[in-house]
Amino acid sequence: MPYSSAVTLTSAANKQGPNVWLKAFPHAAGKMQSPVDIKTSLVTQDPQLLQRPLSWTYVPKNCKSLLNTGEGWKVVVEGQDSCLTGGPLEHSYQLVQFHCHWGKCCNTGSEHTIDGKGYAAELHLVHWNVDLYNSVEEALASPKGLAVIGIFFQVGKHNDELMKITNLLHDIANKGEECSLPKEVDPAGFIPEAHDYWTYEGSLTTPPCHESVTWIVFKKPIEVSEEQLEKFKCLYSSTVKAIVNGEPVPGKVIQNVRPTQPLNGRIIREAPY
Ligand SMILES: [Zn+2]
Repeated sequence: MPYSSAVTLTSAANKQGPNVWLKAFPHAAGKMQSPVDIKTSLVTQDPQLLQRPLSWTYVPKNCKSLLNTGEGWKVVVEGQDSCLTGGPLEHSYQLVQFHCHWGKCCNTGSEHTIDGKGYAAELHLVHWNVDLYNSVEEALASPKGLAVIGIFFQVGKHNDELMKITNLLHDIANKGEECSLPKEVDPAGFIPEAHDYWTYEGSLTTPPCHESVTWIVFKKPIEVSEEQLEKFKCLYSSTVKAIVNGEPVPGKVIQNVRPTQPLNGRIIREAPY
């Protein structure tokens, strides 16, 4: 999950990164960290989740630009008129950005895992609580500040909505590069047809790892093509260096996934469909 932090979890840094975070970002040592492995036999059925159905409204023309954060790609959104409510949420949340995590293999690219099994990638739609807070910066460090929807990608057929992003990745190959989106991208276009989800209280999965996130993870993956996933790996990070002719040069973002964290007694809930 989000942000602007320069710490990158990629290729060579992958094994070291999250361990190093603990010193610089003390929240990363908390008891409510994300991602987690979702053990389906231990999930709690919660009828309360059905009292107000989870609902979302997005405005495609408000997805403004595509940025290489150095950790991956991120779509920057002007969130006015977007709204996420209901389900586990007691407030209204507004979309601020969405981004993706991926990995080397077709089962190592998701941050959350299901009974120990991962997917090829995981999209995060990041929303902040506009009822309680005045800015996303305030919200991300505060209780109930963020609501993040996680959507798994599995290798399959070509995804038209994602193509509007993958077609542009060569324009933002280097960290910090940004381009506008010539075709409107609809965030709702990534939500799977089946709306079953798991929910739990957790954290940002990248520094500063604040424990401010209500996670909503859709159970069913959507399909994207292998070619589209490969395009993600064309992005360069400025923090991962390869040595070429004795000189450090930017390395590619091959994997940007935090390992799963202990649940520490937290409950993962689902609606009893
Ligand atoms: Zn994320």
